[in-house]
Amino acid sequence: MQRLNLKPYPPILKFFHSLFLVLLVLLSPGIKAAPFESSTSVIVIGAGISGLSAAYHLKKAGYKAIILEMSPHIGGRIRTAYYPDKRHAEIGLAEFWEHNPTLEIFRALKVPLETSYTSFSSFIHDGKLYPFTQQNNLEFLKSVLTVSELEAYQRWDQQVAELNRQLEVRPIDSKLLALKDISFSAWIKQQSQLSPKTQAFIRIESEPEYAVSWDRISALDGIAEWHIFSGKGETPYHVVGGNHRGALAIANYLGKQSIHTNRMVTHVNSTDSGVEVVATDMATYQQRRYRAKYVISTVPLFRLDDIQFSPPLNATIKEAIRTQTGGAYFSAHIELDAQAKQPWQRDGVSELPILTDGVLGVIYEGKSPSHQNSLLNLLITDAHAQRFNMRINSMDEIKKELLAEFEKLWPGFSHYVKQMTFYRYHPRAIASWPVGRSRFDPLSNELRKAHGRLYFAGDFTEGTHSDGAAKSALRTVKEIVTQLDNDKNARAGHFYGPKSQQ
Ligand SMILES: Cc1cc2nc3c(=O)[nH]c(=O)nc-3n(C[C@H](O)[C@H](O)[C@H](O)COP(=O)(O)OP(=O)(O)OC[C@H]3O[C@@H](n4cnc5c(N)ncnc54)[C@H](O)[C@@H]3O)c2cc1C
Repeated sequence: MQRLNLKPYPPILKFFHSLFLVLLVLLSPGIKAAPFESSTSVIVIGAGISGLSAAYHLKKAGYKAIILEMSPHIGGRIRTAYYPDKRHAEIGLAEFWEHNPTLEIFRALKVPLETSYTSFSSFIHDGKLYPFTQQNNLEFLKSVLTVSELEAYQRWDQQVAELNRQLEVRPIDSKLLALKDISFSAWIKQQSQLSPKTQAFIRIESEPEYAVSWDRISALDGIAEWHIFSGKGETPYHVVGGNHRGALAIANYLGKQSIHTNRMVTHVNSTDSGVEVVATDMATYQQRRYRAKYVISTVPLFRLDDIQFSPPLNATIKEAIRTQTGGAYFSAHIELDAQAKQPWQRDGVSELPILTDGVLGVIYEGKSPSHQNSLLNLLITDAHAQRFNMRINSMDEIKKELLAEFEKLWPGFSHYVKQMTFYRYHPRAIASWPVGRSRFDPLSNELRKAHGRLYFAGDFTEGTHSDGAAKSALRTVKEIVTQLDNDKNARAGHFYGPKSQQ
């Protein structure tokens, strides 16, 4: 084949040629690139508690961030439903545990908080209800276990507390890390000092937290999950008036201009000097482009594949995402007739929440200003939640099944049910790690590293719950603020060399 002998353009012609091409693209109708909506220091994708917390910490550090949220509302999986007669119940997040960094933000913003029960709950085992009406976890344990069972339990609990302390040391001991290769249930069964009843107690109290069978999570993650129950147990907090109000308080602090709802991010394009984020306006389907120095994605694990990343995510990240699993939740709110008896009340003390270890999941009490027109909240988990989320059953069938279960628990109760309202979640809404994986393993560490100017946050990068979400926001913002401060100092001409050279 004959080679064309092209003469190189002189530089000035090259410049005009490039300018002409750019103008051609910009002026041609139909192929015009959308102008940038705004330019900011950081773009945060998602207005759940991870995204809101990240924007909060950035604002505190003096940097501008905008949040792009695909839905019309903020809060993500923090959702409260409001009913007539000033009643409300949580659709999503039920409680913020004591060591959750979100509580510090709420306290700083003067969000009113309340607490009503401890980390253990009443539970049903082999058809028998073990009511938690005592003052603290220890008194409750004494009512459930024999003296020798309790002693064995306390030894085990101290061992788990010690393992949790060791999990804070880096690098994690390889023997400890190896506990990711065995299921939580198998590991508990190896603890021969625990009686079958104590083992069942541990399972029933902890499974609703990770929303999947304890056979399907690694022992290392089961141990990490136990921290809320260990010792005296952590105190659960709620936002007065509904947890969604906590999310709204952070949003109000950030200001309307910082949060763009109905913006579904479809592309994240990073270069050495910045990021460009493309989003679809969900109201008009108009494409919008945003520019920033850094981007934090708080998109949940089960939605990450919806975004096209350029450069593409590396193979390790893809494997980390592909091999993590999820637990399932399904919420049901039950409005009761004004005449309804309250079979969960014993001598004026509520036995709720009750862990039913069955279809009804966890029975919580919703908030109602009076005992009349009360409201119950079911947090249905694992296989039952998956079944209900799959849309195989009609709402009528689900209602019938739940009413039949209520009749078994509290005969005659179903007559007082006025209305049931159901709320579905993605089948993998709760992060979990199967046997062979763990939040502490090298794949999870890779997910927590910066990828150029892209940072992954969100509950699933740290743990199963909103404390993980809050920690992920602190981690990513700390790293980004260091980078932004360095950029600022470099622009100001500061010298970073060792003192001796100055
Ligand atoms: C029923 C239920 C009960 C729970 N109970 C508790 C509890 O008692 N205690 C506790 O600590 N935790 C609980 N959790 C877990 C807790 O709700 C989550 O861990 C936490 O809310 C996750 O916050 P996040 O910001 O990481 O994710 P999310 O809240 O899911 O927020 C992510 C946001 O990103 C948005 N998004 C997704 N894709 C895109 C995109 N492409 N473009 C733009 N935006 C996008 C989503 O719309 C969402 O608003 C519960 C969860 C559920 C479902």
